[in-house]
Amino acid sequence: MISIRGDFESGSVNVLSAKRAGDIRLEIPKDSKACTRQWFYFSVTTEKPETQKISLVNAGKTTYLMGWKGYRAFASYDLQNWFRVDTIFEQGELKIEHQATEQKVYYAYFVPYPLERKSNLIEKLKKSSYVEIEELCKTPLENSIELIKLRAKKKNNKKVWLIARQHPGESMSQWVIEGMLESILNEPKLEQILSEVNFYIVPNMNPDGSQIGNHRTNNAGINLNRVWHSADKIEAPEVFYVREALLKHGVDVFIDLHGDEAIPHNFMMVSGDMKSGNKIKEKLASVNPDFQLVYDYDNDGLDSSESCCQTSCCNSSCNISAKATDFVAENFDAVSLILETSFKELERNGTTVAWDHDGCKRLGKSLWDVITQE
Ligand SMILES: [Zn+2]
Repeated sequence: MISIRGDFESGSVNVLSAKRAGDIRLEIPKDSKACTRQWFYFSVTTEKPETQKISLVNAGKTTYLMGWKGYRAFASYDLQNWFRVDTIFEQGELKIEHQATEQKVYYAYFVPYPLERKSNLIEKLKKSSYVEIEELCKTPLENSIELIKLRAKKKNNKKVWLIARQHPGESMSQWVIEGMLESILNEPKLEQILSEVNFYIVPNMNPDGSQIGNHRTNNAGINLNRVWHSADKIEAPEVFYVREALLKHGVDVFIDLHGDEAIPHNFMMVSGDMKSGNKIKEKLASVNPDFQLVYDYDNDGLDSSESCCQTSCCNSSCNISAKATDFVAENFDAVSLILETSFKELERNGTTVAWDHDGCKRLGKSLWDVITQE
């Protein structure tokens, strides 16, 4: 008897058949009320530990086909330790093979970031006298959008904003934020830093999408990073209230944290103040080997003949220019950056190097070091 489950937080799977551990056939579901299809997260329980062969049979019909080339899935027995397992994309199917040493195994597109983990971190931050937590709104699924404020209340301070996980499947972005927040908790020079810089951090822009296992959209099927010019209070309260806070407090440096499915590199794209943005990029590359300057959206290094025309922006009213970084660059005299971290292991000098949630946290720490050394 084999049991496949996806009915837990961030779970995402449809079961076609699972009679034998060596022949498990599953589908990746669409986001709620949307057409994106990419995020998967499920558990497989067998009667005894054995080799599991899993086919995600509709991987060839997902939103980012280039995401599967060279990609390896994550697995865990205890939801604490996650590791990559053998994965291959062939004949339109993503095939995972794993010699399980326990009866129950979790599989995910990237290491999930639980809602409770954010709450626990916020409780820790609340104990710092430099931190103020503001609940900007409750979402339709009753989750909180929190704004973490670190400030010495000086009006002329430089204002640095970081937001993560507008796209809920891009859980790596929240691991980066965690690395940064832990750096803040351990920062001996925090008082000195805050005499010059105010920080505003939204650790999870899309908790509803995270909860229900969406890849790109919130519960209403809205791609949050396409509605920054006219966020609707009812359909996209997440963006509406963060926009209000941005307009209220102002911004000099804005960093929007995402994950990229296809490119096996971590990179930044700059808009607004290009000179300051490029300086941040160069410093980050000099302190962290997992971040680089060669590959990005202008030079993705991918074989374009294999690219596909599919897009997550399948809604006819979708406005590609209504991204958070565009909104900031157009409305403020600021540097506006998007940080993309990979779903895949990283390519470096022709070799493949590990990339997981621990790497994300190290990158978050480096980002803190770079911003505070400005
Ligand atoms: Zn994204």
